[in-house]
Amino acid sequence: MREWRKIPEHIRKLLLASAFCHNCGTTEFAPGYTLRMCHGRVLVEGCCTECGAEVARLCD
Ligand SMILES: [Zn+2]
Repeated sequence: MREWRKIPEHIRKLLLASAFCHNCGTTEFAPGYTLRMCHGRVLVEGCCTECGAEVARLCD
């Protein structure tokens, strides 16, 4: 994922650590998340590391 690699690593870690879960509030992505392009931005989809619910985050 070229766009994702363009993002500095500390920003990527910040994004992965600021997912929003409906059960837990702010949480982290569990390993195995996926990246998708969405309207020119990177959409991270994965599971909450706390409860396993689906979470997603759009990177600006
Ligand atoms: Zn959760």
